[in-house]
Order: sequence, then structure tokens, then C-alpha cells
Amino acid sequence: MNSDSYDLIVIGGGPAGYAAALYGAAGGLSVAIVENNKVGGTCLHRGCIPAKELLETAGIYRSVGRAEEFGIQAFSEGIDFSVAQQRKDKVVDQLYKGLSGIIRSRGITTIAGTAQLVGQGKVSIDKERIISGKDVILATGSVPRTVPGFEVDKNIVVTSDELLDIQQLPASMMVIGGGAIGCEFASMMADFGVKVTLVEVMEQLLPGCDAEVSNIVTRSFKRRGIDVLLGTAVVGHTPLDGTAIPENGIKKVVPKENSPVGTTVKLNDGNEIQVEKVLVCVGRRPFSDFGLGEDMGKGIGVEVDKKGFVTVDDFMRTTVSNVWAAGDIVNSPQLAHVGFAEAIVIVKSILGESVIPVDYSKVPWCIYSHPEVAFCGMTETAAVQAGYDVVVQKDPFAANSRARIIGETDGLVKIIAERNADGSAGKLLGVHMVGPWVTEQLGQAYLALNWEAYPDEIAQFIQPHPTLSESFGESMLRLSGRGLHLG
Ligand code: FAD
Repeated sequence: MNSDSYDLIVIGGGPAGYAAALYGAAGGLSVAIVENNKVGGTCLHRGCIPAKELLETAGIYRSVGRAEEFGIQAFSEGIDFSVAQQRKDKVVDQLYKGLSGIIRSRGITTIAGTAQLVGQGKVSIDKERIISGKDVILATGSVPRTVPGFEVDKNIVVTSDELLDIQQLPASMMVIGGGAIGCEFASMMADFGVKVTLVEVMEQLLPGCDAEVSNIVTRSFKRRGIDVLLGTAVVGHTPLDGTAIPENGIKKVVPKENSPVGTTVKLNDGNEIQVEKVLVCVGRRPFSDFGLGEDMGKGIGVEVDKKGFVTVDDFMRTTVSNVWAAGDIVNSPQLAHVGFAEAIVIVKSILGESVIPVDYSKVPWCIYSHPEVAFCGMTETAAVQAGYDVVVQKDPFAANSRARIIGETDGLVKIIAERNADGSAGKLLGVHMVGPWVTEQLGQAYLALNWEAYPDEIAQFIQPHPTLSESFGESMLRLSGRGLHLG
């Protein structure tokens, strides 16, 4: 058996893992990442990046569709989806090469293989050799959850993993789950001309998001032809004239020659809907299976909760000393940038630097559907339920000059602030945006909220004109007593 020693071993090279490795190496630690697929993880290969790239293609197609409104005679003959896929793969590959290069240039050792924590500071690679580290970070990420009765056959019933690689667009698709990922795919596929039915068991899309923002998304989706079924659940499905053959433990549906491809989905209200594809988007489960061994790490004392999340304290320490965990494997918002933030907390703690835990109540959320959604902090309902007396300010993009210029006036900026004793607006509690490019506008709102700034402090700062971000500035002016463009 070979034996190598490092200051830090990171199991899993997704955003949480590679961020820990990069930040650790920048801080002078000798670092090894063990990755059994490709560094970049879900985010780069099966998540954020490929999904946003295809959403960009969808946006371009939408723009071509309305070019005539601007006097441009551009007639689209449709989408060559294989070219769209090639472009997406190229972007992913460029970023993958870039990331691999930075990892190499920081002197980080990348070890290909499946790692397992076998003892404090001891990591087995493919059960063939053991490496040791003063500290070990578990960052094995997550995998898609499925719905009983909708086992993934990678053909008709798929998850985001398979959908991102389809080479041909289906004529129709049902998306099960109206969360962030479900809404992004519903929006993307509708832009591509696919007939989309979006089924969400809760009474609003994007559960957890401000209700008013969610309603704007629902209205917009419906206007674009998406059938949004709220408060609805799927109960089962019957493939069209196909034979379900168990293969390697999964049911593979093989349609008979010349038979229609697809399935009939039964809903809990008794309705049945026939679609070519079903996309299951009901969240992701932590992938603690391998990294912690068959006994889920209990043998060495790493505590894992009933849902499979590794238990950590505010500083991402597991129940075993010098073993840390970050990213989708812990019970925090499953976002790449939350993984980055958690990785930084861990490395600073290892280096003995002063560190502030991640404040999960104020992390930025961005949803890249059309319209886009971006928010941080409390919703109006949550703030009222928490006992705050609130001041609410809403500024519609219809009043924003840049929004008029680009012809995208649907949406608003909504601010929730604490009401001061004199009735004026005090500390910001939440900022919620829906509309054009709001994912690029949230940054300053996030800073203001986390800085615990007051509207009259923020209102002093200049917003460039004409920009979409003027709506945020206008909201601050109005909250501080007097608006500029709006009363
Ligand atoms: P992962 O990215 O899952 O990486 C874990 C890595 O560990 C994987 O590469 C895996 O192969 C490896 N691994 C697992 N077990 C072992 C082992 N035992 N040994 C060695 N290697 C192992 N987040 C955002 O912030 N913004 C977005 O826009 C966004 N869009 C998304 C869109 C989709 C379709 C999906 C699915 C997710 C999206 N996410 C988005 C979520 C984001 O991708 C995840 O939060 C993020 O990738 C989690 O990072 P991680 O490092 O915890 O895990």
C-alpha cells in the first residue's frame, strides 16, 4: 500500500470541494482532492453551467422570435438542437479545462478514484490505498431524488442529468416539481417550442419564494403557453403501447415499432395527460453513501441525519474532530455559492483565522427562468410571521426606462424593511426581484441586506442611468421618504 500525507484531503471535487482545495492551497496548505468523476461536480457538468447555457440558447431563440418588433427581418427556421448541445458542451469543456488548470497551478494533487473515510484522517482510494490528512473535508454532493412510480428509465422518465444531454427536443413534456430547477427547465423547454405541463404539489410555484413574485412567474408562464397545475400531484403513469422491461434493476421502456413515444400520466384529480417525456425535478438527496462507507460513517462516528445529511456545527465541523463537511451533503441551501462560502469557513477555521459562520437566512437565490427571479432575506409573509412590523415597497419594471428599451417590463422589485417607531423604513429584511436580468441585479441588494443597511443610507448612492438597477435605487429613495421618478 502506498501512503501519502497532506494537510488537507477533500473528498469530492464539486464547488464545495474545489473551493476548499483552492482556498486551502492559497492559504499554504498541501491539498489533495479525490474525485471519482470530473472536478467541477454537478454544478459544472450536470447543473448550473449546462442548464444556464441552454437557457441562454432559449433566450436567444426568444429574441429572434421578437426581432421584427425592432424592425429586424430575421426569420428563424427553428433550432438545430445538436448545435445547441455542442455549444453547451464546449462551454462546459472550456470551464472544465480552466478549473483543472487552476487546480494544477495551485499545486493541488488531484486523485482519480472513489474515496472513503476509513478513520480519522484516513481516506481509502478505491479500497486499494490509503492516504492521510491532518484534516478531511467531505464534499460528495447530491443526486436527484425520484418519485415512486416514476422510476428513471433515462428515455421517457428522466431527471435533469439526462435532460441536459438530450439530442432531440420532445414535442411535449411534463415537469414534476415547480421549484427552481423545475421552473428553469419548464421555461427553457417552452421557449424551445415544447408543449410543457408543470405540476407542483404546493399551491405556488417556487415554494419559499415571495408569493407575489411567484404569482408573476405563474402568470408569465401561463401566458407563454405552459400549463401550470398547482396543488396537483402525479400518482402514476402508463407508457404508450410500450413494454416495460426490467434491465439492470431499472425499468426500460421499449416502444413497439412505429408506436407513439411517451406515456400517460395520471394526476391526483383524476385527469390524465399524455406527454412524450417526464422530467422529475423534486429535489436532490445528499450523496453520503460512498464517502462515508457502507455504515455511513457511523463506524468512525460521523453523524448523519435521517435524510442522509452529514451533521455539522456552525463552522462545518462534523461529529469527528478534523473531519468537516460542506456543500449539498449538509443540510443547507443546495447552491454552488453556498458550498463556496462553507468551504471558506472551513479553511479559515483550519488556518486558525477569525471566521464568521454562513448566515443561511440571507443567502442570495437566483432562478434563471423567464422571467428571472432573484432574492435574499425574508419574504413579506415570513417577516410578518416572525413578528416584524414591516414597510413594503414595490417598484414595477414597467416604470424603468431600460426595461422599456429592451421591451421586458414584466416584473418588480419588492423590498421588505422593518418599520421604525416613527413609521419610517428601517433595517432591510428582504429583497425580492422578478423580471429582466434580476439575477445580475441582486448583488447590491445582497450587500445592503447583509450590511444591515438602512434605506436612507443606500438611497444616497448613485445608480447609473439608464439601468435596470435603477428600480432598486428608486425603491430605496421611496423608502427613505421621497421618490425621484415615482411618487
Ligand atoms: P457536487 O457538485 O455534487 O460535487 C460532488 C462531487 O463529488 C461530484 O463530482 C462527485 O462525482 C464526487 N464524489 C461523490 N462521492 C465521491 C467519492 N466517494 N469519492 C470521490 N468523489 C466523489 N446552484 C447554484 O448555485 N446556481 C444554479 O444556477 C444552479 N443550477 C442548478 C441546476 C441544476 C440542473 C442542478 C442539478 C443543480 C443546480 N445547482 C445550482 C446546484 C449546484 O449544482 C449544487 O448545489 C452544487 O453542485 C453542489 O456542490 P457540491 O460540491 O456540494 O457537490
